[in-house]
Amino acid sequence: MKTKTPVDLPVGYLDFYKNLESWQNQQQVKLKQTYAPADIDVVKVLVNTNRALIESIDFKLDPRRFQEVFQELLQFIAAARPETASQVGKISSLAAALDFEQLPLKILEGDGEYFSDLAQKHEMPEELLIFCVDHALRPFLRLWAAPHRAALSEAGFEIWDFATTCPFCASKSNFSRVRATDGRRFMFCDGCFSEWETRNIYCVHCGNSNPQTISYLTAEDFPAYQAFICEECRGYSKSFDERQKAIRIDPYITNMETVYLDLLAQEKGYTNHSQT
Ligand SMILES: [Zn+2]
Ligand SMILES: [Zn+2]
Repeated sequence: MKTKTPVDLPVGYLDFYKNLESWQNQQQVKLKQTYAPADIDVVKVLVNTNRALIESIDFKLDPRRFQEVFQELLQFIAAARPETASQVGKISSLAAALDFEQLPLKILEGDGEYFSDLAQKHEMPEELLIFCVDHALRPFLRLWAAPHRAALSEAGFEIWDFATTCPFCASKSNFSRVRATDGRRFMFCDGCFSEWETRNIYCVHCGNSNPQTISYLTAEDFPAYQAFICEECRGYSKSFDERQKAIRIDPYITNMETVYLDLLAQEKGYTNHSQT
């Protein structure tokens, strides 16, 4: 039987993330019922400020709703991954000690110290706590970004200079797709699901556009899944070429399915210049 990717992922890994994505979609639909999108011209704000929108526009979030979604996520994780149930239970029983106004801000700021202090103080599993806050926040971010998604992706690559940073939520991205219909390349943010255009022969890390020093790695039999590599900064970024398959992929899942490309690039000494 032909496998879908050249390296097998742990059993249940992708299914967990697919189910998590569905759960987040359901949460987003629920939140949408009481949500009024802000009337902003995102492209104009980006061009004027040259900063991610979340840094210049107030991202409003009701801490009580956030707490509800957070607690529902704990239940989802305990059911989907029973082996984590005791750790999840620990976070759940200490939820009253958490500040649901601060938590989303700290995730967005990438304030690792805040979470390690919190985990230490309350003896909570730190990684799981961060994972839960991060993933409970995503339905809110996606709802916030959704009305502006099309305007952002069609604005062209000239409007945004920081290819690896989401112009909406400022998360880091190292994944793009080349669109089947017109060959344009779009970076993808798995935090808020925004897409923004970037140049085709281009290193998203250092801006190198010399075709002599940019090439790509791929695994045999999987030519549509590529890791662009740059000899200038030794950076790599992953991409899916939809033209080869004539399909629209789910970039969230494809990014995870292609861990083998990260391994391939990293084995050869390339880095994704990750800040974490
Ligand atoms: Zn984003
Ligand atoms: Zn580079």
